Amino acid sequence: MKTITILGSTGSVGTQTVDVAFNERDVSVYGISFNKNIKLAESQARSLGVKVAVSADEDAAKDLRILLADTDIRVDAGKAAIEELASVKVDKVFNSITGCAGLPATLAAIRAKNELALANKESLVSAGQTVTEEARKYGVSILPVDSEHTAIHECLRAGERKEVKKLILTASGGPFFGKSKDELERVSVDDALKHPSWNMGAKITIDSATLMNKGFEIVEAAYLFSVTCEQIDVVVHRQSIIHSMVEYIDNTVIAQMSVPDMRHCAEYALHYPERRSSLIGELDLAKLSSLSFAKPDMDAFPMLSLGYEIIRRGQGYGAAVNAANECAVLRFINREIGFNDIYRSVKEATDKLGSALDSATTTDAIYEIEKEARAIAAHYNK
Ligand code: MG
Repeated sequence: MKTITILGSTGSVGTQTVDVAFNERDVSVYGISFNKNIKLAESQARSLGVKVAVSADEDAAKDLRILLADTDIRVDAGKAAIEELASVKVDKVFNSITGCAGLPATLAAIRAKNELALANKESLVSAGQTVTEEARKYGVSILPVDSEHTAIHECLRAGERKEVKKLILTASGGPFFGKSKDELERVSVDDALKHPSWNMGAKITIDSATLMNKGFEIVEAAYLFSVTCEQIDVVVHRQSIIHSMVEYIDNTVIAQMSVPDMRHCAEYALHYPERRSSLIGELDLAKLSSLSFAKPDMDAFPMLSLGYEIIRRGQGYGAAVNAANECAVLRFINREIGFNDIYRSVKEATDKLGSALDSATTTDAIYEIEKEARAIAAHYNK
């Protein structure tokens, strides 16, 4: 029997992880954390038979406590309670919290020596050095729950580390592939929320449209697989069938292919190093007429290059980009700013904070930078 905890269980990756856990006879879920979706949290808590359910939101926890009054399930509230849940010893903690809020839970899980299945890539963007150092110190391994990084993890099993030349991340290109910078000034929120191949939460869908998501994934790859930014390439692959590749020193490329379904990533992280039969569908190669590849347009999508810049400048810079982006994405969804203003907001935050970003070695410094970057992005004016 394997016991896991699922943080962010009502989000897009969270619900798919719940689906995977529910379908495995020998997996039990100790606890879940959620934000405000009480109805879904109630049904998850009941069907999984969890011991604890935690909401960051006091009111949501109060309401859930009433709904679960006929059960023994404990309902806690607040950010500290989420960290506490992440610290309870289980076989694996799945962190699928969205955004900056995921970092404290990541660190709490590591410090409790819990193995981590990480969907919250923002933890590595804001605090890649700290997170990987802590993981090393506590002897904790981090498995990605992100299609590209799961794919790379799989492809790396084909050779030795010293034989790796580079990692090739695939990008779907998002809904605005092929558009120019000028055309992007006028795109709407509704257009941005229409992703061609993945069905995801709103924040990551906008991050996919700006290619910030791919920028974050460059950082994620650098920290997870200890490679330099020169060793990471991005290629646009519209069909989202190849989820990423590894090129070896003999110029052979190993690719991982499957239908786009995040449940594979949750299954892989859950069972690694074992493989089991899956909930995802078979790949019908004969039905795929073609697989295409193209260079990403760095001029129209400048947020992609921020990924490389974060690796060069370090986690303080990453924390500023991450927090300013989170704020700007929310403002774009609320129709306060335009699509290209997301990049401009982030640029303003990193420019204003300048060299103050280069010496963020503690989590307190990171949280302070996040606060300041968010404040700058909140006041960004077109
Ligand atoms: Mg991804």
